[in-house]
Amino acid sequence: MNTIPFALRGDQIITITEAERGLKCNCTCMACGSRLIAKKGARHAHHFAHYKGQACEHGLETALHRRIKTLFEQRRSINLPPIHLHRQKAAYLPAKRFQYSTVEEEPYIGQLQPDLLLRAGSKVLLVEIAVTHHSPPRKINKLRRLGYAALEIDALALYESHCKQPGQPDIQGFERALFQGLSFKQWLFNPQQQRAEYRLRKLAAQRKVKHRRYKGFHQYIVEGCPLGKRRWRSGFRQGEAFANVIQDCMHCDRCIHLEYEQAYVGYQSTPMLPKTVHCWGHLEEKPKGKPWQSVV
Ligand SMILES: [Zn+2]
Repeated sequence: MNTIPFALRGDQIITITEAERGLKCNCTCMACGSRLIAKKGARHAHHFAHYKGQACEHGLETALHRRIKTLFEQRRSINLPPIHLHRQKAAYLPAKRFQYSTVEEEPYIGQLQPDLLLRAGSKVLLVEIAVTHHSPPRKINKLRRLGYAALEIDALALYESHCKQPGQPDIQGFERALFQGLSFKQWLFNPQQQRAEYRLRKLAAQRKVKHRRYKGFHQYIVEGCPLGKRRWRSGFRQGEAFANVIQDCMHCDRCIHLEYEQAYVGYQSTPMLPKTVHCWGHLEEKPKGKPWQSVV
């Protein structure tokens, strides 16, 4: 954790490419304020290291955070990744460019303090810069309640993907990827995705699961599968479609929710057997940003 790409000279943040080799760089660590030495050898990627004593714990994290925050002040636009609905491979909304006019650093909203808040008119985007740890589920739940779109950038992985080779680290490439690239970015919450998935849940059909034993095996079956996963080969339902819950529905991209019978075991409510499949197989597949229309 001691390979720091950015350091403080006076009150300016400089990159390792701009620094002079050795102690002449005259730089300090952004986390602990101690003196740094610019290591620009042939064997490793160029970086700053602490001159005396141990590398501090938060050196890289603080450096990445502060550099990225100042970049957000300068750039004024960022590419946002596409939005995928539950289990869907095709994007519901494509990647797009977001142009913002104001940047707030670590504002307090509710009980949260996101790293950045970008505003464009009435639109708000929260940005979390993840270096050592990603946002925990509790934080994501709080974000959902706020209702603002929130993006997480995996800054450490992005940095390492550009600055691992020996010699000059590709800091320009890193910064280009940060704003123009789509990888290492992830939606923590998006209200448009929530609205679309809410509509899907409302339109989904609730199909009852039937349990049967066949040749000694337990089977969980849903009648009338709209995708026609399986067909009865004989009997009075011959030719009619059905689906096997465990082998088909559990992995089906049109299953939005699988409901289980609940039972109290000890002191805890525990899911036991599959009860209802919430399925939207009867809807059109790709609605392109419009509300789903039933095609049945
Ligand atoms: Zn330090």
